[in-house]
Amino acid sequence: MKFCSLASSSSGNSYYISTDDGISVLVDVGVSAKNIEQLLADIGQTAATLSALLITHEHQDHIKGIGTLARRYHLPVYATEGTWAAIDAKVGNLAETQKVRLPKSSFVLGNLTIDYLATKHDANEPVAYILQDKEQKISLLTDTGVLNSEMIGKLYNSDLIAIEANHDETMLFHGRYSYPLKKRISSDYGHLSNRACGQGLLEMIGAKTRHVVLTHLSRENNLPSLAHQCVKNTLLAGHLTGSIKLWVADALGASANIQI
Ligand SMILES: [Zn+2]
Ligand SMILES: [Zn+2]
Repeated sequence: MKFCSLASSSSGNSYYISTDDGISVLVDVGVSAKNIEQLLADIGQTAATLSALLITHEHQDHIKGIGTLARRYHLPVYATEGTWAAIDAKVGNLAETQKVRLPKSSFVLGNLTIDYLATKHDANEPVAYILQDKEQKISLLTDTGVLNSEMIGKLYNSDLIAIEANHDETMLFHGRYSYPLKKRISSDYGHLSNRACGQGLLEMIGAKTRHVVLTHLSRENNLPSLAHQCVKNTLLAGHLTGSIKLWVADALGASANIQI
């Protein structure tokens, strides 16, 4: 399987995943369709061959380009009932057949099995995704205020874990955001700090895990070097860095382009 981050920050998120048998999806389309077309071209791909768009939740940094991209390439868009209730009026005209409600349990697109789980976030019905082919498993978890045992259990032993390292707690505390916004971000329905991300990874990393990609960094309250160092130190303390490659996704641009 392949993974590549196309955009990853509080200003826009989109992640490309493909199987070796030609199934490919985007998880979230939080930048413009034009941006996505260019970013896919940069890695030798095209939206024309995508199998589906998977949406985590309705916040603008996850849905900005969905409507245009889905219309232009006739792509099905998968989201929860709650997310559809929030985005239906925003995505513009789509055929009803393109608006797919996530089934109750995991489902398949060709040889790709897609599972999802609820995250803790201030959105209608937000989810994270776990994508597997016969041999490999890629997990993507962003926009959650806390990690619980279900998340840790489902992400455990993924070959690649893409997980949010949103903010440094000290930078957030001393930063220029208003008090209510600071409260929102650090709440149980906000975003994961670098520290919480590292602690969670200690329990998620298994013998198969080779790649960890830190995602959705705040441009205001984090730095790539800080996120990397904090998580690396936590993994080192847990004796877990030996065979793990730790990446930090760029805010915009193809990065963490990984063949697993
Ligand atoms: Zn977000
Ligand atoms: Zn969000």
